[in-house]
Amino acid sequence: MNCKLCGTSGYYRPSYLKYWLCETHFVEYFEKRVLRFFSKPGRDLRNKKILVALSGGKDSVSLLHILLKNRDVLKYTNIVAVHVNLGISGFSDLVENVVRDIAGGENVPFLLIDLKNLIGIGLPELSRKARRAPCSVCGLVKRYLFNAVAETGGFDIVMTGHHLDDALKFMLKDMITYDVHSLRGLKPVVISVNGVTRMKPLTTVYEDDIKAYVKATGLKHIETPCPFKHIGDVDRAVDSITRVLEDNIPGGKIMLYRNLCKLVEEYLKSDENGILRCQYCYSPSRNHICGFCKLTENVLGEPRGIFVKKNIAKLLDNMEMKWVV
Ligand code: SF4
Ligand code: ZN
Ligand code: ZN
Repeated sequence: MNCKLCGTSGYYRPSYLKYWLCETHFVEYFEKRVLRFFSKPGRDLRNKKILVALSGGKDSVSLLHILLKNRDVLKYTNIVAVHVNLGISGFSDLVENVVRDIAGGENVPFLLIDLKNLIGIGLPELSRKARRAPCSVCGLVKRYLFNAVAETGGFDIVMTGHHLDDALKFMLKDMITYDVHSLRGLKPVVISVNGVTRMKPLTTVYEDDIKAYVKATGLKHIETPCPFKHIGDVDRAVDSITRVLEDNIPGGKIMLYRNLCKLVEEYLKSDENGILRCQYCYSPSRNHICGFCKLTENVLGEPRGIFVKKNIAKLLDNMEMKWVV
């Protein structure tokens, strides 16, 4: 199996391609494929302030690296990487150290949010006291914090490292459980009522492609999984459906994801009209109290949204801004 472009030994063949590529040509191909995401209407990064959620895993690390490497092409104003230390003992501090190294290596402005410092309680305790699964609390908290940073810091776009397998899996899970609101959020680009756009540029590639990319480039990343990572029955079922689909129809996962996104676009009415403002922190919310204020009110006795926003403003002021221009 030789590289289609140069004839040297093949390194990797994405399942949706009929040909192999050597390491160099695969890296080129992968980066171009991610960059193509931004050439579609409504995805231009010119003069935009971008916040990248950096977990330290292979996905967000690859995304950040490609964005920074191509700043001349993309012409954004600046990028800041943000990481949340969730306060999971024996895990979060290790991750934070690696993420700091990664951000330092990329020379990108870095904002650390320490959940315990911020609200006095880490994720494990928060989820225990709220009697909710850690991943559901984690998702709510991180979404709130990233939005709060974007709003407070005047960022135009929040980017996350979700790849196509992630997005497709969550979409199918939401269809099984009929979670309409969550379905809308899984499109590659979602514009929120507060004007912050959420983008998932890695929905152009598969998880296996990213694994091959970090191996070829040697990008530093964290491989240790979060201790709360849980693979349930629905996850297993959805994984096997998408695996069989791709085995029988190469590129089938791409087709299915694109078509599901079109369906969501065409048939799911926007819930913009149903969006209110949280009475405590003024964040966009489907209820009079946003999820974060409700969670913190239940667990800590008072809603912490507005307090968090004020503290994020301080963190942003104190951050050493080495703007990437
Ligand atoms: Fe959060 Fe860990 Fe769950 Fe991921 S696995 S959502 S990091 S708690
Ligand atoms: Zn080649
Ligand atoms: Zn609120």
